[in-house]
Amino acid sequence: NKRNETHLSHLASVGQIAAGIAHEVKNPLTAVKGFLQLLKERNEIKYIEIAESELGNAIDILQNLLHVSKPDLEDEPYVSIDLTVELESLTQLFQDQMYRVAVHKDLRDPGSYIFGKRNQLKKVFFNLLKNAFEAIPEKGSIHIEHLSTENEVIVRIRDTGVGIPQEKLNMLGTPFFTTKENGTGMGLTLVFSVIYQHNGSIDVQSAENAGTQFTIAFPKGTRSMKLKEVVYLELEAATD
Ligand code: ADP
Ligand code: MG
Repeated sequence: NKRNETHLSHLASVGQIAAGIAHEVKNPLTAVKGFLQLLKERNEIKYIEIAESELGNAIDILQNLLHVSKPDLEDEPYVSIDLTVELESLTQLFQDQMYRVAVHKDLRDPGSYIFGKRNQLKKVFFNLLKNAFEAIPEKGSIHIEHLSTENEVIVRIRDTGVGIPQEKLNMLGTPFFTTKENGTGMGLTLVFSVIYQHNGSIDVQSAENAGTQFTIAFPKGTRSMKLKEVVYLELEAATD
């Protein structure tokens, strides 16, 4: 029956995720074991450094998962975030790519404030931008814009990259789903999770070999929003 089916598919996806975690964490730990072995044989500092960095990878993977399953563990305060400032400064991180990717920005809307967790939201935009750059094999362009309506702030990130085949669109956000050789498949998992935490929504449109556009919408914040208003927003959200 319907209920069993749902239950079974839930179990199947838990199994899939568990297999993904086991695989992802096993690789760096196996490497650490190997380098400790080498260290025992030849007392060289470089093996300690490699082992350290592999352990860092394992911790990052677990950290991402914790973040996704229990985002409030990182108890960050809600603040007013000016998207013009944040998106400008995030795009600067990709300076070294700009010889091949033209970045067009339309970040002038004066009403584009979100009330949210700054570091988490930075990770959202950083991951979307990173994916956009990675989707462009040689030359291309990326458009970043934001605009505000009466109730919402909308951010669009559009690239002229490889695009996403129709049948893979609904895999986006599944932990460990990646088509990249060195991908983690955790980027969009984090993106989706943080956006939902902020009562936002995300939409993707894509055409193979043409490009992809992500549209993210958040409830509108103001420059001087205080905690009182969040409680109010949450109460409103709970009543619909
Ligand atoms: P990763 O970048 O480590 O692969 P993500 O969760 O960030 O993991 O993305 C998952 C997959 O979604 C990518 O491997 C890629 O196939 C697809 N994807 C995400 N963003 C884009 C994009 N802008 N253009 C094309 N494909 C994308
Ligand atoms: Mg990514």
